[in-house]
This record gives sequence, structure tokens and C-alpha cells, in this order.
Amino acid sequence: MRALRNWSVRHASALWRLYRHLAARAPALHGVVRSVGAARVERLLAPVERQLKGAFFDCRMCGDCRLSSTGMACPMGCGKQMRNGPCGGVRADGGCEVHPEMRCVWLDATEGDLRIDPKHTPTWTQRVPALDWRLQGRSTWLQAITVSRRAEPEPGPGSPASAAPAAAAQEAVSALERACRAWHAQRRFIVTVEIAPPDSPDPQPLIERARRFHGLVDAINITDGAGANCHMSSVAAASVLTAAGIEPVCQVGCRDRNRIAVQGDVLGAAALGVRNVLCLTGDDVSQGDHPQAKPVFDLDAVNLLHILRGMRDEARYASGRPLEQAPRLFLGATANPFVAPFAERVANLERKIDAGARFIQTQFCFDLGLLEDFMRAVRARGLHERAAVIVGVGTLPSAKALRWMADHVPGVRVPEAVTERIAAAADPRAEGVRVAVETIHALRRIEGVAGVHLMGHRNEATLARIIVDAGLRTPRVETEIA
Ligand code: SF4
Repeated sequence: MRALRNWSVRHASALWRLYRHLAARAPALHGVVRSVGAARVERLLAPVERQLKGAFFDCRMCGDCRLSSTGMACPMGCGKQMRNGPCGGVRADGGCEVHPEMRCVWLDATEGDLRIDPKHTPTWTQRVPALDWRLQGRSTWLQAITVSRRAEPEPGPGSPASAAPAAAAQEAVSALERACRAWHAQRRFIVTVEIAPPDSPDPQPLIERARRFHGLVDAINITDGAGANCHMSSVAAASVLTAAGIEPVCQVGCRDRNRIAVQGDVLGAAALGVRNVLCLTGDDVSQGDHPQAKPVFDLDAVNLLHILRGMRDEARYASGRPLEQAPRLFLGATANPFVAPFAERVANLERKIDAGARFIQTQFCFDLGLLEDFMRAVRARGLHERAAVIVGVGTLPSAKALRWMADHVPGVRVPEAVTERIAAAADPRAEGVRVAVETIHALRRIEGVAGVHLMGHRNEATLARIIVDAGLRTPRVETEIA
């Protein structure tokens, strides 16, 4: 089976042409289907389609076939049901985050796409809509014949979000949006930081941890079950910070909620004054403290962004039903420039920006060479002028911790030279801070990098120190720098 699928990817260009040719002629059989009856034809056609497409393309019969836009490799074998590009967790050997023994389906999809279109034209970046789960198991061949393709037209914004943030006529809804506009207008460098919500209903320690960054950052990200570990909800924690006068970014993942729950949560967050929402797919449950939990992944991050933009710009739910009032939101997304498939990373970023993301936060950057390659491609497509690209920076206390992260956290790449430098240092912790500061200085010289996003688990004092040592901000008198 695998050999046949590899063959299909190698011959993606010829198969793609054949597929389009047959699809264009399929409606000619409509009369036959009408006389035999669609239900009877479907009973005959669906098992044949399942067998043939399963063997050649690893098809999962989602009922909304997009093989021609995913390099003739079905993406539905993906453990997170990603329909718009890979998640950030592809392993260094190309293995899947969810099923490490399996090659990431998006490596095949990208390879096939490049065979179909080596020039990488804009059709590559078109968004694939969220799946209509009612169609699972249905024949798409029959849909092509009867031209009854896909249940209903998808509600929501029809065209890409194209306005440049600096040119946006409307008033900024948050301090982070103002900071992003200031970067676009004057190249003022943005600083954000990430903290995990507490394992407690007491909001006070969270507020105190956040207050360490007073005057040092433009916003504080509140993670949403990061690493698939349970904590206070990001919506609640972001609301706590908002009430305390601190600017949060509420992370909203697709792993734990379907499209009904996630829209309700974002509306609730907006009601509590939260404006910045970072859309992400989320780590698989196998990475966290509840590996027995059922992952949801009803949407991917691109479709989540599209739905939230529809709520904000058109005052409609994903169903098309009108809202009484649109939420005021500033939308962002994540990117991981440090793991394969690299060409697809930029296409995926463009889909997110088209879907409404106006700030992008990346995975940890320990490899400046890979980031420079990524930014070159980002600049070539003008994406840095449509969204603020904020690069993830962090530090770990020892070479052992760095190696553990590189080996156990899918999607994090740590070059051996960095680990060796920390290992050889007399004070590994201080050396780690120096590496982070040097990384920030280097990032400031890369055209298109709009800021840095500091990450480090319960390491607020060190992160505050890095911001000051890197010369990004001057601490206010009352800010404690350990
Ligand atoms: S690595 Fe991520 S994108 Fe690739 S198949 Fe696995 S879950 Fe899907």
C-alpha cells in the first residue's frame, strides 16, 4: 500500500491532470445516474471509490475530496485532521507528532504539490474549508457526476483578509494591535511573553507573575492547555488579566472543542474584554497529562481563524446565523519555520494571513539559518507587511534540558552547536541567557521580523532579565528584575 501511495506522489502531476480531465467529463453521466437512482449508484460506487482511492492515495472517504489541492496525497490520515497544511509538531525524522511511526502526510502532500506546480503559484495557498462531517463515507465521484458537490456553500468571509494592518481604517481594538501597527509604520519592535495559567482557582499568583512584565512587554500570552496539560482555562485566565489592567493574548486551540464550543468561548472572552485571540491547532493529547482523553480537532487553525473573522467582520456564526453584535477581536496565529515541510510552511502562513491573522508567533528559534530562509520566502510574498511576525525566543537552564526538549517536544529544533555551547559553559544558566540575548540581537537585523515572543516555563524572572539585557525595554522602577 505504502509503495502505491509513494508512486502516486511521484506521479502526482500526471494523476492531477487525469483527475481534472475526468472531473470535467463526469457530469455527462448525470442522465445515467438519474435513471438508475442516486442512492443505488452510491451503494455501488462508494465501495469501489474507497478501495481504489484508499490504495493509491490513502483516501479516508471524508466526502469532500481535495486531492487535487493536496498533491494527490490525502491529508485525512493526519492525526489532527489538518486540511490546510502541517501542524507544528512534525518530528525531525519526518515522523508524525501523533503517530511517530508514520511519515507526516503533509510531507507527501508538499512533495506532490511541488511536482504538480514547481513554481508554487497562489492556488497553492487557497484555504480548504472545514469538513462537513455528515459527508463522511459518501462518494465524491457521485458528487462530481451530479454536480451536487459539498453540502452547502460555506458561510463567512468570501475573500482573503487583504487589508494591510497599517492601512486599516478602523480604530485598533487592543494595545497589541496598536503595537503591531506601530511596527508596520515605524518599525517599533514588539515584545510579548508567554505564561501558563495556574493549577488553582486563585487568580492572585497569576496576576503577580504577569505584573513582573509591567512596562516590559506589549502583551502576555495565556496558553490553552499547552502540551496537552490541564490548567485553568485560557479564556478565564485572560479575563482575569484583563480585569487587572494587563493586556493578554488568549490562546484558543482546536484540540479540545468543536466549532460550537469554540465560538461560544470566544464570544464569552470578548464579553469579558479580551481582544487578542491567537488561533492554534494544539498539541496532541498523547503529549500531555491526559493521554486517555479524546482529541476533537473539528477545525484546524486556518478554519478557526476564518470562522472568527466571520464573527467579527460579518457578525455571523460559522452556521451563517447572525450574531446580535459582532465581537471586537484582533486575531493571530502560530508558525513553525524550523521543521519540514519548509515550502508548505510559507503557504500555510499565507492561508492563515488570508484567513485573518494579523500577528504571528513562532516556535522557539534556536536556528537562525532556518529562520532567515523562512523570512526570505515570507518577504518574497509580502507576508511581513500583512502581519507582524513575532519570533519565539527562550532559554533553558542546562544542556540536559535542551536535549530533552529537542528529543521530546515535537516541532522544536535545537542545533547541536547550541547545546554544546551551553554544556561547555561554567554557568550554563547564564550562558543560556547570553544565547537568548544574542538571538534577539540577530533577529532585530532580519528584515521583516517584527518582534520577539519570550517563552519559558515558570521562568518569569529570567525572561524579564533577557528583555532588559537585550535592550528591548527599560524596566520601570517598580518592575522587579531578579
Ligand atoms: S505531524 Fe501533524 S500535520 Fe503531520 S500527519 Fe502528524 S498530526 Fe498531521
